[in-house]
Amino acid sequence: MTKITIAIDGFSSTGKSTVAKQLAKALGYVYVDSGAMYRSVTLYAMRNGFIEADCFDEEGLVSQLEHIKISFKFNEDLGFAEVYLNGENIEKQIRTLEVSQFVSQVATVSEVREQLVKQQQNFGKDKGVVMDGRDIGTVVFPDAELKLFMTASAEKRAKRRYDELIERGDDVCYEDVLINVQTRDHIDSTREDSPLTMAEGSIKVDNSNMTLEEQFDFVLKHSEEKIIEVHKKKRH
Ligand code: C5P
Repeated sequence: MTKITIAIDGFSSTGKSTVAKQLAKALGYVYVDSGAMYRSVTLYAMRNGFIEADCFDEEGLVSQLEHIKISFKFNEDLGFAEVYLNGENIEKQIRTLEVSQFVSQVATVSEVREQLVKQQQNFGKDKGVVMDGRDIGTVVFPDAELKLFMTASAEKRAKRRYDELIERGDDVCYEDVLINVQTRDHIDSTREDSPLTMAEGSIKVDNSNMTLEEQFDFVLKHSEEKIIEVHKKKRH
């Protein structure tokens, strides 16, 4: 069967990665978490003194970009690919509230975006990919056959994120998580380079009142219909 590219964009903590992983598994596609790449660069910046207190040394980070190697390795037990920074598995370290608090600022830097977008386009060059992020349908794969735009109320998203962090054993308060979600939405939607917007032709998925199962059925149905449509077009 013909393979397509599925681009999933949307606000923070809308469950993009959950649905992207489910879709990739069901279709036998590769899943790429582009947010994990921006988080990895942020962790590198924090570890190397480019982010201290509230100061961000953008030029310093840009001068080191060639030393940041990000890769993904499939973990059979987990059923998805984990992210590595210069050979170290950092899947857990990039999900902290601290990294979340700086990542949107790092993601405004054009040099960072340029490098990561190139790598993301390379991951998807053979199609059969589900990628989630903020600019996948607009910048990374403007020709993606299927574009989904996920949204939900900020309170619902913050509650989901808060529950996830508590479950991992992180010491966080709901108010801080809500402020982080709202701040990231604002920075991501108003930045100059590749702001978060709904790409033309996207299907909007508001999952505020959807169960995970309903959401998955909805996106799988659209994906399968699109695959058949593209397959038929190619045969004619
Ligand atoms: O998806 P996730 O919440 O892990 O992304 C973390 C941050 O990385 C986002 O808030 C955004 O600032 C940035 N990002 C981006 N472009 C992407 C993916 C993520 O700017 N394609």
